[in-house]
Amino acid sequence: MHFHVITIFPEFFTSPLSVSLLKKAQDKGVIAWTIHNLRDYTVGKHRSTDDTPYGGGWGMVMKPEPVVKALEEVGRAQPSPWRILLSPQGVPLTQAKVAELAGKETLTFICGRYEGLDERIRLFIDEEISIGDYILSGGEIAALVVIDAVARLVPGVVGRQESTVHESFSDGLLEYPQYTRPEEFRGMRVPEVLVSGNHAEIARWRRRQSLLRTRKRRPDLLARATLSEEEKQWLAQTSNED
Ligand code: SAH
Repeated sequence: MHFHVITIFPEFFTSPLSVSLLKKAQDKGVIAWTIHNLRDYTVGKHRSTDDTPYGGGWGMVMKPEPVVKALEEVGRAQPSPWRILLSPQGVPLTQAKVAELAGKETLTFICGRYEGLDERIRLFIDEEISIGDYILSGGEIAALVVIDAVARLVPGVVGRQESTVHESFSDGLLEYPQYTRPEEFRGMRVPEVLVSGNHAEIARWRRRQSLLRTRKRRPDLLARATLSEEEKQWLAQTSNED
């Protein structure tokens, strides 16, 4: 999986991409990235990437020529690089969207700044993604969010691939509570079932905790999840003491 990022702040990506999981994945050769400095695609001696908005108003708007030129060059080097514009007006990022993106070979991210981008740039991209209903000062953090979430699903990035299968959202539910040593901490014991060694019981307990937790914290998710008849009945009889 190759990530291309088009930004006016290439240095933004240095530290997040050089530690932990993303670093290891790059060392193993399972993911790679190229950070493109938008200023390298500007024309004229001022190398400007932005200009004042037509019609007047506050702030600056990113010019179309450098962004489109950068997209075209990335496209030449890498056939069919799926082009994503980070934007608060895009489709909200979900785990399902992340899984869909993880199936592609190349992703190209365009990071906006200032008041946004010239509207005509939208004709040169494949999709717009938002990471939530709030405004960031630039698309860089949003691009990193998408890269991190997508990279975890690329085979070979997370140690054991199964560990991404049972996570929150992957089956439409939140994950069950997790515990590690010590068995007793400040008077609180780890639930008995987890130290029982009975794997079937543990799996059942986890699934039920997952259901309770989702009902309590995210009823919107539970309404869309697929539950067995037995699970529906069990939930109806159980109060939320999660
Ligand atoms: N004036 C614009 C917001 C510009 S914010 C509007 O009202 O729609 C500047 C840049 O930050 C955007 O171009 C985008 O690339 C990025 N950005 C801001 N919020 C974002 C979000 N929630 N998700 C993804 N990108 C975002």
